[in-house]
Amino acid sequence: MSHSGEHVVIVGAGHAGGSVAALLRQCGCKGPITLIGAEPVPPYQRPPLSKAWLKGDADHASLALRPLAFYETNAIALRLGTSVSRIDRAGRTVALGSGETLAYDHLILALGCRARPLALPGRALAGVLELRTDADADRLKAVLGPGKRLAVIGGGYIGLEVAASARALGAAATVIEREDRLLARVAGPLLSTFFHDQHRSRGVAFVLGAGVEALEGANGAVTGVRLSDGGLVPCDAVLIGVGALPNQELAAEAGLACDNGIVVDRVARTSDPTVFAIGDCTRRPLPLYDRTMRLESVPNALEQAKQAAAALCGRAPPAPEVPWFWSDQYDLRLQIAGLAQGATETVLRGDPGSGAFALFHLGADDRLLAVEAVNAFPEFMAGRIMIGKRKQIPGAKLADVSVSMKDLAA
Ligand code: FAD
Repeated sequence: MSHSGEHVVIVGAGHAGGSVAALLRQCGCKGPITLIGAEPVPPYQRPPLSKAWLKGDADHASLALRPLAFYETNAIALRLGTSVSRIDRAGRTVALGSGETLAYDHLILALGCRARPLALPGRALAGVLELRTDADADRLKAVLGPGKRLAVIGGGYIGLEVAASARALGAAATVIEREDRLLARVAGPLLSTFFHDQHRSRGVAFVLGAGVEALEGANGAVTGVRLSDGGLVPCDAVLIGVGALPNQELAAEAGLACDNGIVVDRVARTSDPTVFAIGDCTRRPLPLYDRTMRLESVPNALEQAKQAAAALCGRAPPAPEVPWFWSDQYDLRLQIAGLAQGATETVLRGDPGSGAFALFHLGADDRLLAVEAVNAFPEFMAGRIMIGKRKQIPGAKLADVSVSMKDLAA
């Protein structure tokens, strides 16, 4: 930023937007910052929505990214419950839903994702839900409890986390998945089988390899999910958890390059040098893997927030991070670092039967590409370090539990 009076406008007050506002101040940005968010609440964490929040173990204050006073103290103007409907790049203004326009010198798009819609007969019935916001989580929580039956369409992370929370709340849960295994898009077969067994042993029912034909109801409320083979899963509520779509339309309409995500470079800059984009809404380069990808995770939102803040404040770009993610189900903490695509060998360390183990994915040259660790923090941490160092290591060494992870990572 060439001088301190320049106005930074951030559109999207989620994890990425809230983080970049704070980081800009930390990096020494002195000019005005405006954070505009469509939701009526200040930036909050979404991961607990399918976990602690649903189970009643978290309150609003613990979800908040920062206390409200933080924004005032740091002169970050919050415009909540406000949508941006258009970007005028030539005039450097954004149009708000209220009809107002706001001028910017630098624009940061942190627009996030929305739940992928499923066009099904019966979609509008009461009790058919999705999970993206705290308001969605409140609606879901209200239909879970002893004696209630939840059907979850989609056996991905969010669907499985909600199924686990439903069981903790005393509700019955049935997961319906189109593929013939859970987590098919994001995990290998061994991990799919492990989580399938864990959920089954806690009373979750599964229908795998099943298409959904319609949602059936009575008196305006959902009563069941009709499957393509004619079967029916009776239920009192349905959660549709079939992935998410990037909120890229605002950028695409403004002529910014988009390709399943707003296309950005290594410092989160879009095809317009005055516009940055960060978080779930972007397609970004992953230098460690020599590819671009859209990631939906908190660590990714934070990494790109750091990149944008550093670039805008004239600081050196932060070193590339190894992508990582976590998921909590029951007493199981899954932590994943790296990307397993292209792996030619998978090595198991530990015993899945003990509930603590790790899977290491290696490339043809023995380079460690990814680790999936269940209740195995040392394996996750050391794996993440080794991936960052592009370490080559024979699979047999990783499988040998007599050698500590610390020694392997050294
Ligand atoms: P978001 O947090 O979605 O924020 C985007 C914001 O932009 C939203 O508030 C939206 O309303 C606003 N917006 C969009 N368009 C406009 C507009 N035109 N004008 C104004 N505002 C606009 N990640 C993990 O790493 N681990 C987990 O365990 C995990 N669990 C999750 C569980 C759930 C239920 C969900 C929904 C997500 C989970 N995630 C998890 C993903 C993680 O929450 C996201 O990656 C993260 O929130 C991304 O931050 P973001 O700022 O890019 O998007």
